[in-house]
Amino acid sequence: MPAAPEFDSVLVWFRRDLRAEDHAALMQATRRARRVHCAFVFDREILDALPDRRDRRVDFIHGSVLELDALLRRAGGALQVRHAHAREAIPALADELGVQAVFANHDYEPAARDRDSAVGRALAAAQRRLLTFKDQAIFERDELLTGQGRPYSVFTPYRNSWLGRLDASDLAPHVVQLEGRLSDGAGVPAVPTLAGIGFEPTGLRELGVVPGASGARAAFEDFAKRIGRYHEARDYPGVRGPSYLSVHLRFGTISIRELVRFAWQTRLADAANAAGAASWLSELIWRDFYFQILHHHPQVVDQAFRPEYDRIRWVDDEALYRAWCEGRTGYPLVDAAMLQLERSGYMHNRLRMVAASFLVKDLGIDWRLGERHFARKLIDFDLSANNGGWQWAASSGCDAQPYFRIFNPVAQSRKFDPQGRFIRRYLPALAALPDRDVHAPWAAAPETLSKAGVTLGVDYPLPVVDHDAARKATLARYAVVRRPPGGAATT
Ligand SMILES: Cc1cc2nc3c(=O)[nH]c(=O)nc-3n(C[C@H](O)[C@H](O)[C@H](O)COP(=O)(O)OP(=O)(O)OC[C@H]3O[C@@H](n4cnc5c(N)ncnc54)[C@H](O)[C@@H]3O)c2cc1C
Repeated sequence: MPAAPEFDSVLVWFRRDLRAEDHAALMQATRRARRVHCAFVFDREILDALPDRRDRRVDFIHGSVLELDALLRRAGGALQVRHAHAREAIPALADELGVQAVFANHDYEPAARDRDSAVGRALAAAQRRLLTFKDQAIFERDELLTGQGRPYSVFTPYRNSWLGRLDASDLAPHVVQLEGRLSDGAGVPAVPTLAGIGFEPTGLRELGVVPGASGARAAFEDFAKRIGRYHEARDYPGVRGPSYLSVHLRFGTISIRELVRFAWQTRLADAANAAGAASWLSELIWRDFYFQILHHHPQVVDQAFRPEYDRIRWVDDEALYRAWCEGRTGYPLVDAAMLQLERSGYMHNRLRMVAASFLVKDLGIDWRLGERHFARKLIDFDLSANNGGWQWAASSGCDAQPYFRIFNPVAQSRKFDPQGRFIRRYLPALAALPDRDVHAPWAAAPETLSKAGVTLGVDYPLPVVDHDAARKATLARYAVVRRPPGGAATT
C-alpha cells in the first residue's frame, strides 16, 4: 500500500523555473502532498525598480507565466498570480490557502537568498515550512570542493571535478505527475495583463524570442541540429553558432538536466557531433561554476573577487561611457555589439568579451558601470554569469584573463567577423566599405571612404580613443595591483 502523503496541501512557488516538466519542487510537491497549489509573484521589489516600462524580461516572464497557467488549467489547476512584494505575498497566500508548506527551488543570488530567508521566517512564525530544492544547477553550493575542502576558483579543475563526479542520477529527470494532485483552479482569477502590472509589450516574437516552455523547446530543437558545429561556429557573431538558450535557462523554461543529458549523450554516442557537444557542455559547466562562485563569494556583487583590483583608479568620463552604451565609439565591432544589445536584448558571447574589454581596458571605465548597463539591457541577465564575465574581462575575477592581456578591438574584428557581416548588419553606414577597411574605417584611404559614401564624424564617428595609447594607459593604471596597499611596485 502506498504511504499516505506527508502533507495535506502545499504551495509551489515558481520563480526562475517557469515550466511544469522536470521540475524539482513541483515533483516533490506532487509526490509528498495530497493537494498542490501553484503560485507566481510579479515581485514589486524588483519590478518597481526597473527604469523602463518596456522591459523585455518582464514581457518574457509574463508570456511564460501565461503558458504555465494554461498548462496547469488543462490539468485541472491554475497558477495563483500576485503583483506584490513576494516577502509578504507568499506567507499571506500560504495563510489564505491554509497550506502546511511552501516548496520552491534554490536561488543563489544574495538578494533572492535574503528574500527566501525572510519568507522562511514568516512561514515558520505561522508553523509552516519552506522546503527548497536544487533545480537550476547540476552541482551547487558545497557539492564540488577542492581536495582541501574549499570552493573552486579556477575553472579547469572545477570542470574536471564536475565531469568526474557526474553520473546518470545527476541527470535523471524530476518527473512531475500532475494528475489528481492539483488543487481545483476553477475559482482562481486569470493572470493579470502586462498592462495590469504596469508594463508594455516589447515585440519579443519579432526578435525571434518565444517565451515559455514551448519557446524553449523550439530553440532547443533548432540548436540540436547545429550542435555538431558549435565549437567551430560559436565565436563568429555573423553566423548562427550558439544555442540562444540563455534566456530560457535564465527563467527556467527548460531544464538544465535535459540540456546536459543531451550534450553528454551526444558527446559519448554521436561521433560526428561529439566535439561540438563537448564544447557546449563546457559552457553549461561555466554556468554552474559562476553560480557556486556567487554562492561562496557574495561580496563579488560589488567588489572585485581579487581585492587588490579595487585599488585601481578608474576613469570618470560620462561622455565616453555614453558613447560606449550607445554604440558610438568609432570601433565598428564594439558599436555593432552595443547596438545588438540595445535592439535585441541579446549580445553574442564573443562580443560580450570584446565590448566589456573595450569599456574597461580601452576607456578605463570601472567594470561595475558596464555590468550595470548589461544588467539593465540583457534579456538573459543573470547576476552570476554577468558578474563573472565582467570580472573576467576586468581581470579582477577568479580565473580571469591576466590584466596585461588586452584585446585589440580591430584584431578581434578581423578574426571573428572577417567579412564584416555582423558589422554591416548593425552599421549600414559602413556597408559599402571593403572587407579590409570595415574594421577600422579611420585607417581607410580617403578615396575608399568617399567611394563608400562614408564621411567620418558625420556618417560614423571617429574613434573616441587610440587603442595603442589606451593600452599603455591601462597597463599603468593596473600597475597598482602588483604592489601591496601603500607599498612600492614589486617589478
Ligand atoms: C561580460 C559578459 C557578461 C555576460 N553576461 C551574461 C548574463 O548576464 N547571462 C548569461 O546567461 N550569460 C552571460 N554571459 C555568458 C555568455 O556570454 C552567455 O551565456 C551567452 O552568450 C548566451 O548565449 P547562448 O545561450 O546562445 O550561449 P551558448 O554558447 O549556446 O551557451 C549555452 C549556455 O551556457 C551558459 N554559458 C555560456 N557561456 C557562459 C559563461 N561564460 N558563463 C556562464 N554561463 C555561460 C549559458 O547559460 C548559455 O545559455 C556573459 C559573458 C560576458 C563575457
